[in-house]
Amino acid sequence: MPVGGANVAPESSSTAPAGRLRITEIFHSIQGEADAIGWRTVFVRLTGCPLRCTWCDTEYAFHGGGWHAIDDILREVAQHDVRHVCVTGGEPLAQKRCLLLLRRLCDAGYEVSLETSGALDVAAVDPRVRKVMDLKAPDSGECARNLWSNLAHLTPRDQLKVVIASRGDYEWARAQVAAHALDRRCMVLFSPVHGAVQPRDLAEWIIADRLPVRFQLQLHKLLWNDAAGH
Ligand code: SF4
Repeated sequence: MPVGGANVAPESSSTAPAGRLRITEIFHSIQGEADAIGWRTVFVRLTGCPLRCTWCDTEYAFHGGGWHAIDDILREVAQHDVRHVCVTGGEPLAQKRCLLLLRRLCDAGYEVSLETSGALDVAAVDPRVRKVMDLKAPDSGECARNLWSNLAHLTPRDQLKVVIASRGDYEWARAQVAAHALDRRCMVLFSPVHGAVQPRDLAEWIIADRLPVRFQLQLHKLLWNDAAGH
């Protein structure tokens, strides 16, 4: 479990009470990636994910968690006096009420980001939310789950992240950037899998190929060796 924050103790329940979301943790930390990197942020980690990426570092969010009313989540977030809130998982969109949570957080005036796998439809996400969407490369084991129609819902406010575990992943990602003109849709982030690709190698590949993508290291890994969202 990530350090640096106050965590909500999960309630135990096996049924889905009306109007509630299953939450693994709510914590206050520093955003470790994407465009809001470095900002104090409250993370709301929803429980459950239908994918099983080989390099996933949030497996503890697959099961368990506790049921929380949206009003209670907002109250907990408000205690930390932040502008930035990140809704993550697991795969947050696997719970339909996530859409309502996102809207309520936007209505409350927060800068809201959503970390999502790219496998579930993002069309109904509130347009005020910054989507940080994965494009799963082959070594994730979940490449077939990419919902390509999601690309049409990305705007210049959003970010598309490819987690790279090998040279093969890199070449696949490079081909997708070219084939779909991804950099013209939104910011594209290439991030190395910790322990699988040397960050310097990835940086040098990007430079050598003059790619229009942004290299990213996960700040929370450097600071605390913590879990990420996706
Ligand atoms: S990396 Fe994200 S999408 Fe993949 S299994 Fe883990 S939580 Fe699910």
